[in-house]
Amino acid sequence: MSDTPVIGVLALQGDVREHLIALASADAQARPVRRPEELAEVDGLVIPGGESTTMSKLAVLFGMMEPLRERVRAGLPVYGTCAGMILLAEKILDPRSGQETVGGIDMIVRRNAFGRQNESFEAAVEVDGIDGGPVEGVFIRAPWVESVGAEAEVIAEHGGHIVAVRQRNVLATSFHPELTGDHRVHALFVEMVRAVK
Ligand code: GLN
Repeated sequence: MSDTPVIGVLALQGDVREHLIALASADAQARPVRRPEELAEVDGLVIPGGESTTMSKLAVLFGMMEPLRERVRAGLPVYGTCAGMILLAEKILDPRSGQETVGGIDMIVRRNAFGRQNESFEAAVEVDGIDGGPVEGVFIRAPWVESVGAEAEVIAEHGGHIVAVRQRNVLATSFHPELTGDHRVHALFVEMVRAVK
C-alpha cells in the first residue's frame, strides 16, 4: 500500500469525479483537493477540465494559487487537461481579465482555439510515450499550444497544432482522456509520480 502514490484532483470546479475514477483505475490513491492542507498531503495533482477563468478566480479566493505555484516550483508532478492545461501555461494568449495561471510549463496557450465550427470533436491522437496505438482525444472547447520553450517537449499534435506537452514533472493535454475509459494517459502520469516519490 505504502508505495501507492496519493494523487489529488483539484476540486474547485470542473470534471473532478471522472479524474478520480481514471486515477483509481491507474493504481493511484485518488482524492479531491480543495485546501492548502490537502494539497500538502499529495504526491501528485491533476487539474481537471472545466472553465479556466472560474478555476483561476476560485484558486485565488480559496487561498490556493500561491500554494499551487510553490509546490509546482518545488517539483510536484502535475497533470492538467484542457482548462487544466491553460492553468499550467506560463502565458495565455487571450486571457480574460483577472485570469491568472499557476504555470509550470514554458508554453503559450490559446483558449477555445479550435473555433466555433469545431467546438467539440473527437480525434485519434498519437502520444509519444504511450504505447498501444493512438488515444481517443475528446476535445471540448479546447485550447491548443501556440509555442513552447526549450525545456518543454511536444508529445502530441493534432491538425498541425500542439495538443500535449511535457516539461519535467508537468504534463498537459488539450483533450480529456478521463472521459474515454482508456486510462493510458493517467497511467503515464501515475508513472511520473512514482518516479519522483
Ligand atoms: N474553454 C475552457 C477554458 O477556456 C476549457 C474547456 C474545457 O476544459 N473543456 O477554460
